[in-house]
Order: sequence, then C-alpha cells, then structure tokens
Amino acid sequence: MKFDLHCHTNCSDGTLTPEQLLKRAISAETELLAITDHDSLAAYDVYPPGQYFFSEEHGVTEEGESAPLQLISGCEFSAIWNGVVIHVVGLDMDLESPEVKELLANQVQRRIERGERIATYFDGVGIPNSLAGARRIAGDATLGRPHFARYLVEQGVVDSEKKAFKKYLGKGKPGDIKVKWPTVPEVVKIIDSAGGLSVIAHPVKYDFTRTKLLRLADEFKEAGGDAIEVISGKQPPNEIQQLVDAANQRGLLSSAGSDFHRPGQPWADLGKIPSLPNNAQPIWQVLQDRSA
Ligand code: AMP
Ligand code: ZN
Ligand code: FE
Ligand code: FE
Repeated sequence: MKFDLHCHTNCSDGTLTPEQLLKRAISAETELLAITDHDSLAAYDVYPPGQYFFSEEHGVTEEGESAPLQLISGCEFSAIWNGVVIHVVGLDMDLESPEVKELLANQVQRRIERGERIATYFDGVGIPNSLAGARRIAGDATLGRPHFARYLVEQGVVDSEKKAFKKYLGKGKPGDIKVKWPTVPEVVKIIDSAGGLSVIAHPVKYDFTRTKLLRLADEFKEAGGDAIEVISGKQPPNEIQQLVDAANQRGLLSSAGSDFHRPGQPWADLGKIPSLPNNAQPIWQVLQDRSA
C-alpha cells in the first residue's frame, strides 16, 4: 500500500495548489492520500474525499483509467501539551462537523492575532509592513510563520527562509510568539466527535526524551488518540523501529507521511515513504476497513 497521510498545499504553507499536489501524488502512484494543511480543510472545498485520477488530457478527474488515488480528509491542528506546541493530525473526519468548523475558525483567529504580534516585533526592529506582506503572500491560506519568513526573504532581510527561522521565527526566537492553542486532549476530542482518527505528528521534532514522549503517548491514548507518525519525511530505520515499538506498546497505530511542503524539499518527496516495519499496526488498514 502506497500511502501518504501528511502533506501541505497552498491552503496553508505549501507551495502547490491542491490540483498540483493531487497530480504529483497520482504520478507517484500514491494509493491513499490525506492533505493535512495547518488548521485548514480548504483543499477539500475543491476536491472532496473520494477517488481521483490523472491524465495529461483531462488533468485531475473523478473518473479515469489509471490506478485511482483515494483521498481522505485530513488536517494538521496546532495544539499545546505541557507548554510545548504539538501538531495533531486528524484523518477521515466528517467535514461538516460543527465542532471542527468552530475549532478551525478559532485557530484562524489565533493565527491572525499571532501575526499582529509578530508584526509588532518586526516593526520594533526596523522591518516594517510585515503583516500586510505576510498576508499578501499567504493569500487565502491560513497565516503562518513561513509566510513571514517568505516576506523577509522577499525584502532582502535574509537570503533564505531557513535563515529567517534561524534568526527570527524559529523555536525560542522573538518572532516565535506563544499562542494559546487548544490542548492535545481538546483537539483529540474534537477529531473524535467528527468521527476521525487522530495522530501525533512528527514526534521526533519535539526534542523530547523517550520518557517524555511516552508520557505524551499515554495522555494522547487516554484522551482517545489513535496513532503516532512513525515516519515523517526521512527518518533513520532504527528510529522508525523505536517509534513503532513505542506505538505498539501503547496500543497506538502507526501512521506515516512525507510532510511535503514543496517540490525539491530536502526531506521525503510526496508519496515517497519507506514501507513500515513488519510489526507495525498500520493506520491505513483501519482507514481502508472504514471506507469498505
Ligand atoms: P506555524 O504553524 O505557522 O507556526 O508554522 C509551522 C511551520 O513552519 C512548519 O510546518 C514548517 O513548515 C515551518 N517551520 C517551522 N520551523 C521551521 C524551521 N526552523 N525552518 C523552516 N521551516 C520551519
Ligand atoms: Zn508547515
Ligand atoms: Fe507539523
Ligand atoms: Fe506538516
């Protein structure tokens, strides 16, 4: 099964349109895909969950001859746990859920308020108009730190987004303004109420000790959480195995995703994920059973 359950479009901070992303995923022969934009389900306005095909003649279509791609709903929610920002991926949720809609409206508002505070900081260090600039670059997307990073590159303040994060916007830097995101259990409950499965995204990125990560997994499971992303982008095989073992021990399923944001990114490409270790309990099996 070729699957990718974590990727981004220009509905958040990815660079491809949903159409371009689907085309790329189908070309990579992905069989099961979830688009998981940050705090946004906008991609599904254009492409509702279902089967998609691609041909040079007709582009992305709902009927075709090639092997189909099954698209399920997804979203990467920003959440907080013990003062740390944790990303929780929700999969196969009811898109009409009022609880999810309310959560997303609040997340968008929090992102705008954070953007105002980021801009106040940049004003103070002599980098003006960053809110207008970031919003222009974001367009209809949920506003994120990467849009500020792109503005800084555009203005010649730094020569790469990476440097923008390193100097201004990354963990612990002044532009990394704290947000009162909902807690991990709160997000899990909302995903649950929408009939979805919830996944702890990229567990390695939080720089937790093993003990702390297991504590997060325990509280996540306790709240009704379903899976851990045992592969996010490129990961060494021993790390994948450790995460699978931790998930199994905690009664959690294994999920995987590229966290694709743009073509040419240094980690895994869309749909190009190594297969899961033999002892993994893959989340796609559950997702497939649900749709059968
Ligand atoms: P936000 O949700 O707006 O706080 O932005 C989070 C996104 O910023 C992540 O999904 C990455 O795409 C990007 N990001 C976070 N940290 C870095 C970093 N150090 N370098 C480059 N991009 C980053
Ligand atoms: Zn992102
Ligand atoms: Fe993330
Ligand atoms: Fe992501």
